[in-house]
Amino acid sequence: MKKAFVTGWPISHSKSPMLHGFWIDHYGINASYEPLGVEPENFQKFLKDLPNSEFVGGNVTIPHKEIAFENLTKLDDAAKAIGAVNTLWIESEILCGGNTDAYGFSANLDEFAPEWRDGKTAMVLGAGGASRAIVHSLLEAGFEKILIVNRTYERAQKLANQFGDNCSAHNWADLPDLMPRTDLIVNTTSIGMAGTDASMMPDLSVLSDNTIVTDIVYSPLETPFLKSANERGLKTVDGLGMLLHQAVPGFEKWFGIRPDVTPQLRKLILELSA
Ligand code: NAP
Repeated sequence: MKKAFVTGWPISHSKSPMLHGFWIDHYGINASYEPLGVEPENFQKFLKDLPNSEFVGGNVTIPHKEIAFENLTKLDDAAKAIGAVNTLWIESEILCGGNTDAYGFSANLDEFAPEWRDGKTAMVLGAGGASRAIVHSLLEAGFEKILIVNRTYERAQKLANQFGDNCSAHNWADLPDLMPRTDLIVNTTSIGMAGTDASMMPDLSVLSDNTIVTDIVYSPLETPFLKSANERGLKTVDGLGMLLHQAVPGFEKWFGIRPDVTPQLRKLILELSA
């Protein structure tokens, strides 16, 4: 039996076991995928032991993504650009790390708003851990200008500096001036996540009628950000697809089948998360 895992601390909230469990059943594979809580002080040893363990690989989530990046010598290009690892696999007894979040983000937009790739200017709200994958994905898709707007300006500035000349950092107060110029706007802040303060939600009335609006937060599925865009009649894409698509490359590496992201899977994850 091939065994894979998701590790984080804590780990009980992770939806990855139900997602990979669905595909294991669906494709009838002799495999397992289990949550493994590893405390931060034990994570480096966990990584070191992996090539000689019973596992073929796994996923890494908060707070281990950056530590995995720092401790691996073999990384894919996305992990190098993003500075974090979310997928591990073993090749010739060497532990390798990749990052599939940018792929998941792009694949979700490709599915629900393929015209996003025609855009030239994108706005990213937020400069936390997840925003780096989004900026990488936007650069890969050929966006010429990426406006990074964050409550704490210094973090936006750091992110913009890391990703080069196509990126610029901005204050939250600049939003009304910047928003009419964007073809795509992505919320990567936790504003609108169930139970969080939504008082800084931007006013979307100034966006152009053609702007595509997407949120990487998927709980609730229709965040206040997406609700406001839907009420304005704008094209919107929710964040659940990013979660589903980012899991595809790992499953393929560990188990040898490239799984499909289907409406049935989406429905199941929504039902099980409700
Ligand atoms: P993070 O590192 O903690 O960053 C949070 C970001 O939100 C920061 O930019 C922070 O601004 C901003 N923020 C928080 N509260 C705010 C408020 N009240 N008003 C304005 N800005 C606020 O988190 P993360 O890891 O980037 O994750 C962000 C969200 O993305 C989470 O909800 C996570 O579940 C979701 N996510 C989804 C997927 C997916 O597959 N769909 C993948 C990864 C993450 P400051 O810098 O000013 O604090």
